[in-house]
Amino acid sequence: MGIKENLDIIEGNISSAAQKSGRRREDVLLLAVSKTVDIARMEEAKALGLIDMGENKPQEINRKFYEIEGIRWHQIGHLQTNKVKYVIDKVCLIHSVDSLKLAEEINKRAAAKEITMDILIEVNISGEEAKHGIHPDEAENLALQISRLPNVRVKGLMTVAPFVDDPEDNRKYFRQMKKLFVDIESKNYDNIDMEYLSIGMTNDYIVAVEEGANIVRIGTGLFGARDYTV
Ligand SMILES: *Cc1c(COP(=O)(O)O)cnc(C)c1O
Repeated sequence: MGIKENLDIIEGNISSAAQKSGRRREDVLLLAVSKTVDIARMEEAKALGLIDMGENKPQEINRKFYEIEGIRWHQIGHLQTNKVKYVIDKVCLIHSVDSLKLAEEINKRAAAKEITMDILIEVNISGEEAKHGIHPDEAENLALQISRLPNVRVKGLMTVAPFVDDPEDNRKYFRQMKKLFVDIESKNYDNIDMEYLSIGMTNDYIVAVEEGANIVRIGTGLFGARDYTV
């Protein structure tokens, strides 16, 4: 199936899941995950209105940034401190901040460019060992520490849920993320603006939206299976 057909299905699913959670389609951002996707297919997606695109690797953003115009780039994959320089003046949102050290590097690089960088705190909600992200019990404290950095703005939370056969198995994790999100929001901390809850991928985005996601990150569901050999 082509990108258009895939998108039509996803749009319908997001609309009905948003309705189930008392929201509208416009309340949820569909972030197209373009890792390993070539520029021609990205142009096709852009022509369908998908201008928010997410990449795992900072180097891939750094390259594609110059090859396609008019994209709002999102850094969604793990970011090493020494790679911040590749994306700092190219992305609108970094989804994967899980340490003060990384936030401090972002702050330093953002200050040098005289910008403020919007970031999400990545939470390891399932506790899987191989996963990046901060322990949920420490997320609020990390958000508070980061909120004191002048050139970084905390805009919400992100998680990568486990890969499961049945997306219902992730519902409990999405609920926990939503609860954490609301808890932190309710404290009304200065310089913490809980605007985005970035949870849900191809396999489980419907459940994620039902549980309150307002960003879903979809790669294979839109572009088809990834080819890592190219
Ligand atoms: C690859 C990736 C996605 C998209 O995964 P799909 O299952 O292809 O939709 C979302 N978020 C992150 C952090 C990713 O690395």
